[in-house]
Amino acid sequence: MTDNTHKKQMASKKAVIDARIAKATEERGVLILLKGNGKGKSSSAFGTMARTLGHGKKCAVIQFIKGRVETGEYKFFKDHPLVDWHIMGHGFTWETQDKQQDIAAAQKAWQLAEQLLQDDSYAMLVFDEMSYMFKYDYLQVAPVVKAITARPKHQHVIITGRTMALPLQEIADTISVVNDEKHAFRLGVKAQAGIEF
Ligand code: ATP
Ligand code: MG
Repeated sequence: MTDNTHKKQMASKKAVIDARIAKATEERGVLILLKGNGKGKSSSAFGTMARTLGHGKKCAVIQFIKGRVETGEYKFFKDHPLVDWHIMGHGFTWETQDKQQDIAAAQKAWQLAEQLLQDDSYAMLVFDEMSYMFKYDYLQVAPVVKAITARPKHQHVIITGRTMALPLQEIADTISVVNDEKHAFRLGVKAQAGIEF
């Protein structure tokens, strides 16, 4: 390709992109779903939260499932003046094997989520691993859809989890799928501090 052809191609590409940018004029809160079997959903959510915090805006995290250890992200963000971090689950479902206890924990987490979804002082809410609540029928999806739809106009919501309920996908603005092409675990690497938690 000659330099001239390249220049022409880039100019027309720029025109197409500029036209798309000119069309996207709305500013409002978005619902982002991060799903799939690969590694990177929760860490992407917390990375995006760091962006919002960098702009001096208040955020909250609700973790619907609690792991066994204090995570690096919790240790990093918990004392940040603009972050409220709530760990609501009491353990992995396959470890506790107590359905009534799981349902009670899910409902308590949802009550809090519902409050935050009415509070426009929060620029961003992260509902980490919320999708499992629907998968195991611990929460009904309809009231969640209703509360998310009625939230303050400029509030962003990010939900993570391997599978997502269809009604949430219908109202989402952005859905990203993290695929599992390779994972170090299958090569015999254990869960490591700073990578997995
Ligand atoms: P991360 O928190 O690292 O962004 P995630 O939120 O996408 O990961 P989860 O489904 O929440 O992943 O799983 C929690 C932990 O399990 C992660 O720390 C991750 O490294 C590990 N994990 C994720 N996907 C896989 C996989 N396909 N095989 C083995 N372990 C995995
Ligand atoms: Mg996760």
